[in-house]
Amino acid sequence: RTVYVNGEYVPEDGAKVSVFDRGFLFADGVYEVTSVLDGKLLEFEGHATRLERSLSELDMASPVTKDELLEIHRELVRRNDLTEGMIYLQITRGAAADRDFAFPDPEETPPTIVLFTQSKNLADSPAAKVGMKVISIDDIRWGRRDIKTVQLLYPSMGKMMAKAAGADDAWMIEDGHVTEGTSNNAYIVKGGKIITRHLGSEILHGITRATVLRFAREAQMEVEERHFTIEEAKEADEAFITSASTFVMPVIAIDGVSLGDGTPGPVAQRLREIYLEESRKAAI
Ligand code: PMP
Repeated sequence: RTVYVNGEYVPEDGAKVSVFDRGFLFADGVYEVTSVLDGKLLEFEGHATRLERSLSELDMASPVTKDELLEIHRELVRRNDLTEGMIYLQITRGAAADRDFAFPDPEETPPTIVLFTQSKNLADSPAAKVGMKVISIDDIRWGRRDIKTVQLLYPSMGKMMAKAAGADDAWMIEDGHVTEGTSNNAYIVKGGKIITRHLGSEILHGITRATVLRFAREAQMEVEERHFTIEEAKEADEAFITSASTFVMPVIAIDGVSLGDGTPGPVAQRLREIYLEESRKAAI
């Protein structure tokens, strides 16, 4: 595999980042994951725009322009013959001479930018056919979940808690309400109405979320952006999650309680089909 590191395309074995990098020492960095279908990028504009926002919220400047970023994504797809999968992008505050909590002077410490590809079958996903099981866990993350930082230890622990419980993922609960999944946005469907948490600093503003809600409204489905409790979720007709790499993925059980007949629901399946069809058309 060829990866991109600070302006250069290098074989993955030759790629190097300093031990003093603040991404490594402080999780001082942001990331994006963009999906690739048919060798084309999905939602590039959305991911690039959110990246700029994440950087600016942390007083960081991008080392590349949006056009350069697009070119790097495309070049990695080409060099790695990627037809389907993901492109991971990470920008950290770079490697300062000493370990210091205070941010270094950006003039002296340029950011580190890394991109790599991961090949994966996304459209034809076995998980989408059976649906996934989730458990609920406390949301003990920091309060700026709208910034896509690389501090992912708790979501990672949440995945492990889910696995230990025989489930696939965890939905996080704060003040009695579901915030989101470990790496996705959470939805329930009740009486045909799609309910998902309103935007705020409590959740990541999913690029897939915005697109799926737009498609749902265009298809005359009713959408309500409000928070919901885990009890309400367990009584829902169906549930699903969205993210760049899973698209729309049905949820069939919450904390061991089956939803509906325990199989992927019609709304989730329909939205997945619409999303796949429309995103393929819009891919660049
Ligand atoms: N919430 C969290 C916490 C996430 O990590 C992700 C995916 N990175 C999402 C939501 C979904 O966002 P997107 O649709 O942009 O992938």
